[in-house]
Amino acid sequence: MLEELIRPHLRNFQPYVSARSETVEARIFLDANELSAGSPISFDGLALNRYPDPNQLRLRTKLATLAGVSADSVFVGVGSDEIIDLLFRLLCEPSIDSAVILEPTYGVYRVAAELNGVEAAGVELDDDFQIDVEKTLRAIRNRTKLIFCCSPNNPTGNLLRREDILALCRSFNGIVVADEAYVEFADAASLAGDVASTNNLVVLRTLSKAWGLAGIRLGYSIANPVLVEYLLRIKSPYNISAVASSLALTTLEIPGAVQTTVREVIGERERIARELNELPVVRQVFPSDANFLLARFTDSRRAFSALLARGIVVRRRGEPRLRDCLRITVGTAEENQLLLNTLSEVEA
Ligand SMILES: *Cc1c(COP(=O)(O)O)cnc(C)c1O
Repeated sequence: MLEELIRPHLRNFQPYVSARSETVEARIFLDANELSAGSPISFDGLALNRYPDPNQLRLRTKLATLAGVSADSVFVGVGSDEIIDLLFRLLCEPSIDSAVILEPTYGVYRVAAELNGVEAAGVELDDDFQIDVEKTLRAIRNRTKLIFCCSPNNPTGNLLRREDILALCRSFNGIVVADEAYVEFADAASLAGDVASTNNLVVLRTLSKAWGLAGIRLGYSIANPVLVEYLLRIKSPYNISAVASSLALTTLEIPGAVQTTVREVIGERERIARELNELPVVRQVFPSDANFLLARFTDSRRAFSALLARGIVVRRRGEPRLRDCLRITVGTAEENQLLLNTLSEVEA
């Protein structure tokens, strides 16, 4: 069933066989044209002159343990952005297959669709930025392969209803992607636990947000092992560097530290939301389950410029539905205070 979704020329695709694909026990490695003398610099005792494990077994096993799934249902990418691109490449025939994007949402889905020559139909989320299941299902065409749901949604900040995402999975023959980049900040369980029983659900997670590792570029997906196997075949052979892998593994050993910062961010999020609501320039603060707030201003251009004049940059969005809205990342307590002070001086 899942095989039928794979682009025909990739169903029997023979991947590049890298020197280290078959783990060999050896003393002397003269198989990969590496520099046996070693690397001119070192990092954390890693053998930087050697290619990393193309299958990322240790990392995938660790991520799987933390997510409560099996290692063969975890795929690791250079950020979840790489996985979004790979899903298009694996599933969508350019100019023939298409995707559905629930908007307003993360811009990368549409960019990745365009880059791959795939049409993306936008379906608006409802007035509460929730999925209109009926409307979304009506937008599905014969050759629709992917639906992107972002929960908590960027830039609106809210969780999507789990039941709606699962309803899409049940009524749609293609793949439903649930992008959970911000789920650690939400008061809800990940959909990772539903992947085993829902073979067309792909959950995207990342170390870029709550884990504080945006710089190392590491994201992962939890998906049916059949899909993971195909993703492993089509990815570039050594996509995850030894450095990124090692730093990720070290960080994943200290989830407690991450939980503490996540709690702090949530505390600050609630405080900024309250204080923004008191400001004359703010018309509305949308509820957030993420590490940012979407707020509507009386005049977002004026607020944006006032912030920029103080060296504070926030995110503007172009959609008509988000007119006069700014997306504000929760910063440190000090940064947030500077933001609030600046906005309190702006004329409404
Ligand atoms: C930040 C973000 C990501 C993370 O992308 P990476 O490539 O893993 O850094 C994914 N999805 C959404 C919705 C995001 O906002």
